[in-house]
Amino acid sequence: MKPLLNDILPLKQWLTDHSDFLKITGPCSAETPEQVNSVMENLASLPGLHYVRFGVWKPRTRPNSFEGNGKAALAWLRNAAKETGLKQMIEVADAQHVEAALEAGIEALWIGARTTVNPFSVQNIADALRGVDVPVFVKNPISPDLPLWLGALERVHASGIRKIVAVHRGFTSYDAHPYRNAARWEIPLQLKGMIPELPVICDPSHIAGRRDLVPEVAQKALDFGMQGLMVESHPNPDSAWSDAAQQLSIQDLPDFWARLEYSTSSGPSPEFNDRLWALRKLIDSLDEDLLNVLARRMEYTREIGQHKAEHNITLFQLERWNEILESRTRRADELGLDADFIKTMWMDMHQRGLEVQAKALESLRKTEISQKE
Ligand code: PEP
Ligand code: MN
Repeated sequence: MKPLLNDILPLKQWLTDHSDFLKITGPCSAETPEQVNSVMENLASLPGLHYVRFGVWKPRTRPNSFEGNGKAALAWLRNAAKETGLKQMIEVADAQHVEAALEAGIEALWIGARTTVNPFSVQNIADALRGVDVPVFVKNPISPDLPLWLGALERVHASGIRKIVAVHRGFTSYDAHPYRNAARWEIPLQLKGMIPELPVICDPSHIAGRRDLVPEVAQKALDFGMQGLMVESHPNPDSAWSDAAQQLSIQDLPDFWARLEYSTSSGPSPEFNDRLWALRKLIDSLDEDLLNVLARRMEYTREIGQHKAEHNITLFQLERWNEILESRTRRADELGLDADFIKTMWMDMHQRGLEVQAKALESLRKTEISQKE
């Protein structure tokens, strides 16, 4: 899968302060002119803020929830922006939203998680963006589907957008616990690995779903080298019209930003780099050992399969399997390894082994049939 994205503009080249880290905050929804004014006034003193986010059209899971104030809110936003000079961004879900936002002079747009899942909608938005120079942020789709996210980024990029950013906001999952959405960090990291020049930022609010958990998710995003944060905040979060549980109080933002620790992707000193290099070499050599052991294990699995097939024994032996799971997770625990992780690994390995054995059985049967014929 070769990504169709080139000439992506680095953040430094289009953020007016030449920063390579995006700082975005604002309420889930634009609720009233007074709330919009209060947000803008209060955020004006927050240092280094690039955009104030607002939901103007809200994609709500159930009907009869607050679905946003639409076009009317665009006028409130622009009015309040005049006073502060802060830039604003909103969510767009179709071509009409894009046109209305651009006409109002909104400085950046984002495509929400429920829209990214639908290639028709994304294409519709991308068509409306043709020939326009506006930063576009693409949130991950709600399903943990990297190609779908990549496809949305490619559609937006193909319309000529070069100021493009991916936003990791977590994935719907029945076991996201303790968060609202499962983080699945490997997915945004894989995206970054495929397109290193693509800025990938995090929306810790929609991952956490709870105000008290937002800082730890935000910190993790920074530890993974993400290039910015979009954080929901509200002048009075408890009475917010949407996502009340997860919005930070605007008053708490200076403290929230101050507590985050930033790491750099390259080492601060030659000593640091030497040590990192040495440790990585150790990991490389252990990985080589692991792969050799896995190959040898699979060889024995194949032999056992052969043996079972020759004696007409079922491939799956429940007792043996239970004993393996029990003893390996117990040992993992003794070694200080995460038992769930080891269990998943062994289940995958066992499944692969069974597939290999089934293949061997199938080819043995084929030879027997052809010998009989
Ligand atoms: C939002 O940002 O308020 C929002 C609805 O986000 P998402 O698309 O990530 O659910
Ligand atoms: Mn929200």
